[in-house]
Amino acid sequence: MKLKIGHLYPDLLNLYGDRGNIQCMKKRCEWRGIEAEVQEFELDDPVDFSTLDIVLLGGGSDREQMLVCEKLRGIKKSFRDYVEDGGSVIAVCGGYQLLGHYYDTDDGRIEGLSLVDLYTEQGSPRLISNIVIQNDALKVPIVGFENHGGRTYINGNKPLGKVLYGYGNNEKDKAEGVLYKNVIGTYLHGPLLPKNPHVCDLLLANALERKYGVNELAPLDDTQELEANRYIVDRFVSASDSRKD
Ligand code: GLN
Repeated sequence: MKLKIGHLYPDLLNLYGDRGNIQCMKKRCEWRGIEAEVQEFELDDPVDFSTLDIVLLGGGSDREQMLVCEKLRGIKKSFRDYVEDGGSVIAVCGGYQLLGHYYDTDDGRIEGLSLVDLYTEQGSPRLISNIVIQNDALKVPIVGFENHGGRTYINGNKPLGKVLYGYGNNEKDKAEGVLYKNVIGTYLHGPLLPKNPHVCDLLLANALERKYGVNELAPLDDTQELEANRYIVDRFVSASDSRKD
């Protein structure tokens, strides 16, 4: 079996080491004997979504998002067909905002891909925090770090998780990220997947199911990853729960 991972615009959308997520997907495939090929796309490269199984859209500053948004118009239709066909996507922070209709900033509107029914508005102050969220379909919480000025509203869509600590999509909803078909959008930055191997495996399982009809992944020894995850949950969630008692 083989999965092909497309990394969109790593030269512009690469805040906080989003590349670590690519390495994590690649390694967790290889450890299971699944071949993984990564293709990086620069702004002027044509993207043939029919050859891709997972797409990563990373985070970027408002300036970089503005540059990317011009180019996205050209791939909007084929990206949408890929998503509607069940293609897997992991979009982080700036990339997450670009999945939606628009991101309104003080310097103007950044048009999005409208792949998911959501929109973002800039607010103040920036929402910067460690963050822990819970997705009820996953046994282990999802941990990470967020740093965004945008407040995202996901209309009727399902969030990636409920906020146990931190801000999430905006200060109001106590929801973080979005799940739409096999698309995951999230504000959790940088090494999201190494810190949360269960999220990585969800992406891989969805991609394998779509391509080969196989939805079981061989287990890996995640003792260290899960210990690190537990440490963060204990540090932020358990500590703030006990302060409330
Ligand atoms: N520029 C966006 C914001 O501030 C996204 C930033 C990011 O990717 N960290 O909301």
